[in-house]
Amino acid sequence: MAKGIGPGKMIRYALSFLLLVSACSVAAGLLIRQASFRKTPYEQAFRSDPAILRSHVEYLAEQCPGRNCANPASLNKAANYIEETFSLYTAEVESQTWKETENNLRNVIARFGPDAGKLLIIGAHYDVYGDIKGADDNASGVAGLLELSRLFSRTPPSVPVELVAYPNLEPPYFAGPNMGSSIHAKSLADGGVRMKGMISLNMIGFYSGRQKWPYFFIRLFYPMEGNFIAIGGRWKDRMLARDLKAGIRGAGGVRVISYSGPIIIGVDLSDHRSYWDHGCPGVILTDTAFMRNENYHTKRDTPETLDYDKMSGVVDGVFNTAISYRE
Ligand SMILES: [Zn+2]
Repeated sequence: MAKGIGPGKMIRYALSFLLLVSACSVAAGLLIRQASFRKTPYEQAFRSDPAILRSHVEYLAEQCPGRNCANPASLNKAANYIEETFSLYTAEVESQTWKETENNLRNVIARFGPDAGKLLIIGAHYDVYGDIKGADDNASGVAGLLELSRLFSRTPPSVPVELVAYPNLEPPYFAGPNMGSSIHAKSLADGGVRMKGMISLNMIGFYSGRQKWPYFFIRLFYPMEGNFIAIGGRWKDRMLARDLKAGIRGAGGVRVISYSGPIIIGVDLSDHRSYWDHGCPGVILTDTAFMRNENYHTKRDTPETLDYDKMSGVVDGVFNTAISYRE
C-alpha cells in the first residue's frame, strides 16, 4: 500500500511548481519583449520637424469626404500630394497601378539609397475607414513617410529603400488581393527583388491615456501608460524588431517597446503582413491603435489630438535605423 503524501511535502511541491511557472513566465516575457539596451547612436545634425509633420497630417485630414475608394476625388488628392512631396526630394518617384484602376487607384513609391543590396521597404496606408479625417489612422504614418523622404535627401540610407504609400488597407480590402501592399509585395517577389524587411508605419501619432492590453499575460510585461511607440511582429521578425528598436532608442525622442512572438491581436493588422507572404520579415510600428486611441475609426480622429514631438521621435528613429544598416 502506497504511503500518502504529507502536507509538508504537498506545500513544497506546490511552491516548486509555482516557482517554475513564474520563472518560465519571466523568461517568456523577456523573450517576447526582446529585452536589450542596444542603442544606435544618432549622428546627424538634423532631425524631422514636428511642424512639417503636422502640416502633412492637416492636409490629408482636410480631404473630405474621407479618402478611400468610395470617394475617389479625395483619394486622388491625397495620392497627388504624396507624389508631389516625394518629388521634392528624389527624382525616383513612381506610381504603381493595377487592374482595379478606374479611379486612378495607385501605390506611390519613392526610392533612395544604393542600387545594390537587399531592399528595405517602409510603408504606410493613405486611405481611411469611412468618412472620417483619419489623422492618426493613418495620415500620421504617411506624414512620417514624407518626412523620411526629406531626411533621406540629406543623408541617404545605407541600403536600398522604397518608401511606399498604399490605398486599400481598410475594409473591405484588408488582407485581399487589391490591398495596395499586396500588389507591391507581389510585384517585388515576381521581379526577383531580394527583400531585407518591411516596416509599416500604422498610427504613430497618439500618446496619452491609459494603455489597454487584451491579455493578462501581456499586461504583466508591458507599460500601462500610453506614452510609447510599439513594434510588433512574429518571432521570426525579431532581428528587424531589434534593429528598429535600437534605432528609435538611439534617436532618443520617444519610449519604444517591442513584441516578437505568436500572432496575437494587432500584430498582423497592417501592410507588413503582405510581405510575410513572400518570405520577407515585417513589423508594424504603431501607437497600438484601438488599444489606446479611443478616437479610432471615429470622426474624433483629428489632427489636434496628435503629439507631433513624439511622432518626430518615431520618424528620427526609423531614419536612424535605415542610415545605419551595414550589410
Ligand atoms: Zn483603420
